[in-house]
Amino acid sequence: MSTLDRLKDAVGARGFTQDPAQIAPHLEEWRSKYRGTTPLLLKPATTAEVSAILSICHQTRTPIVTQGGNTGLVGGQIPLHGEVLLSTSRLSKVRALDASGMTLTAEAGVTLAGVRQAAAEKDLLFPLSLASEGSCTIGGNIATNAGGTHVLRYGMTRALVLGLEVVQANGVVLDMLRALHKDNTGYDIKQLFIGSEGTLGVITAATLRLFPMPDAAVVGLVAMPSPDAAVTLLGRMQAATGGMLSAFELMPRLALELVTRHIAGTRDPLAEPAPWYVLMEATGGRDTGLAASFETALGAAIEDGIAGNAVVATSQAQAAELWKLRESISEAQKREGASIKHDISVPVAAIPAFLKKAVPAVQAIVPGARPVSFGHLGDGNLHFNFNAPRAGDDPAFLAQWDEVQLCVHDLVKEFAGSISAEHGIGAMKVSSLPRYKSHAELDAMRALKAAFDPAGILNPGKTVPPVVRL
Ligand code: FAD
Ligand code: ZN
Repeated sequence: MSTLDRLKDAVGARGFTQDPAQIAPHLEEWRSKYRGTTPLLLKPATTAEVSAILSICHQTRTPIVTQGGNTGLVGGQIPLHGEVLLSTSRLSKVRALDASGMTLTAEAGVTLAGVRQAAAEKDLLFPLSLASEGSCTIGGNIATNAGGTHVLRYGMTRALVLGLEVVQANGVVLDMLRALHKDNTGYDIKQLFIGSEGTLGVITAATLRLFPMPDAAVVGLVAMPSPDAAVTLLGRMQAATGGMLSAFELMPRLALELVTRHIAGTRDPLAEPAPWYVLMEATGGRDTGLAASFETALGAAIEDGIAGNAVVATSQAQAAELWKLRESISEAQKREGASIKHDISVPVAAIPAFLKKAVPAVQAIVPGARPVSFGHLGDGNLHFNFNAPRAGDDPAFLAQWDEVQLCVHDLVKEFAGSISAEHGIGAMKVSSLPRYKSHAELDAMRALKAAFDPAGILNPGKTVPPVVRL
């Protein structure tokens, strides 16, 4: 029997397709940067089926790529070399929710929105929040160690996972679905799979941490003279709210202009334009005086000349309008035309100095490139993006992507930062990684890859750079 027939047998008639029309949406990603091919799309419905698939792939040395919601931004989920594709879409059950222990166990293919909704029905919060949450899966979030807008308060996905169920490359199931906050029984093996981008095993289920649902939220949009002032404001607001800030997002004037130009139903809520803005949110209990502390500290910052004008939402609808300004930036950038993007982090206090150096450095390569540097200032993470000098698609501008990226990433290194803060390495950055990680660290990554996937069948060519012998 051929390998493909054995794989089809392992999942039964409903568990695979070779119909090009059904496969097509799985072969291209959101930014249309990567396109792949596959002879077979597998859709296992149980952990046992995933195990059967991987043991066949392992025995026959058949490469395989795992895909969740296909929202990844570095091409990791695309079968670029004609691999078999495993979709987790039918691993879609919420297996358990323990309201008093505040944990939820979900299969890998449950969407992030589905996890958040299941928690909210019990008045609990799963705090991971991404603009892609309607499509991305919890398995994909864990495989990429996703970040998003609430990392400042709750940490990356890594901090939200208590237990994992993983099928190893050879088909053996690692059942680590423990709901323990404390477990120092040797190596914490589950952490190796978090952020491993489908290269070490297939995640089939996870036990997640939930939190009390905050019943009060204060959201404000603040005009800022500079990123330096924004860093000062961050410190003041954290102190004033007792660490209750859940988001602190920076955006430049141009981002706001692009959003109000391209996204229906948005408007600039402030009377005067400002060079920068911060969108900040604090959440907590209704009777904790949070709103008063927030507004007093903000008022003092305005008085001291740290912040300019501000608007604080007085209703949930107004808060949603302010959030829409921030969450529409990527879409507005896309509608404006070509852009070159980076997902970088540096120590929080170094953000202003990084911007002062990196923006002119890019503009020296592309005169007139328009900076749209926005993102999670509270985490030291910027989406350090540039739109083409003029609106519209601009192939000449995009042709300079590699040169711009090299310049930006070299500066990130100079500032002791990371070339991928939250999106991962995937196919996009695997060839750049050796320039920015030490030989010793890369060798440790390769040793783990060889230990968990000795036949090299899982997501080959992604995330772990090959050894280049000179
Ligand atoms: P996929 O794209 O399907 O896969 C991503 C990677 O994980 C691939 O390498 C794949 O092989 C692997 N993988 C998927 N499922 C499994 C599994 N079960 N077991 C093993 N490996 C697996 N990311 C952020 O971090 N922060 C953001 O704020 C953010 N915002 C976004 C906004 C938009 C509009 C879009 C389109 C994307 C955004 N992303 C963001 C990126 C993306 O949504 C995340 O990386 C997400 O975690 C990917 O989940 P997914 O289910 O779509 O995974
Ligand atoms: Zn982000």
